[in-house]
Amino acid sequence: MGLLTGKVALITGGSRGIGESIVIKYAQEGADIAFSYVSSEEKAMEVVRNAEEFGVKVIAIKSDASDYTQSETLVNEVLGVYGKIDILINNAGITKDTLMLRMSEEQWDQVIHVNLKSVFNLTKHVLKPMMKQKSGSIINMSSVVGVFGNAGQANYAASKAGILGFSKSIAKEVGSRNIRCNAIAPGFIETDMTHVLTEDQKKAYIDSIPLKRLGAGSDVANACVFLGSDMSTYVSGQVLSVCGALNT
Ligand code: NAP
Repeated sequence: MGLLTGKVALITGGSRGIGESIVIKYAQEGADIAFSYVSSEEKAMEVVRNAEEFGVKVIAIKSDASDYTQSETLVNEVLGVYGKIDILINNAGITKDTLMLRMSEEQWDQVIHVNLKSVFNLTKHVLKPMMKQKSGSIINMSSVVGVFGNAGQANYAASKAGILGFSKSIAKEVGSRNIRCNAIAPGFIETDMTHVLTEDQKKAYIDSIPLKRLGAGSDVANACVFLGSDMSTYVSGQVLSVCGALNT
């Protein structure tokens, strides 16, 4: 029996990167899974097949997490298939990095919508069913950049800092209903998002990380297993850094 056997998880952005690692790790731990993606249809189907090998039920649904109505439809579809949602992981995110002087309104709006409004959209629609079932765990993917900022990422850092305030507020608001809400703040994790870094930039980051390596998607996925499982039933309103001690 796995740490998540009997639980249903909805994960946004499960087709690649950290989200893909979470889907696979959750399948290993026995959860039934629904995950969303926006464009990588073939990749999403490959993730479904890989996760199904662990004997759990897995569905992938194309749904833009930044869209309020699509998020409501997504939650209703998942409830229609599984009858409940025990764990929501708001993982979908993008970057549009540039210095403030060059940042367009569109680059600001896109990042805030995909990274922050999505967290509102999905949380809003899972709360009622979680209240009815009198339990739930919501995990929001922030970033160390949301904690200490980063030049060239004002839009991204603002979205990730917003997630921290949101997560703590939701933890206080619905704690009495046995619903927990936590944030994870990953450091530098090797995914498509960080593949844009040059080798020199990577080396500079590694030099500044006490554990002397970039993180893997599985490092973040393991933290998601803890926060989604009954191992963490008294942990809520917290920010868990998964950053090799960078944020220390
Ligand atoms: P990634 O490799 O670029 O993958 C992003 C995932 O999000 C993909 O599955 C993508 O779907 C999905 N997505 C993007 N926009 C979406 C939308 N509007 N609706 C639904 N899904 C959407 O990114 P990652 O590095 O795994 O990052 C995952 C999360 O961790 C993000 O929130 C990111 O900010 C955070 N994070 C990452 C790092 C890092 O170093 N990598 C560090 C700190 C925090 P498609 O495949 O269909 O495009």
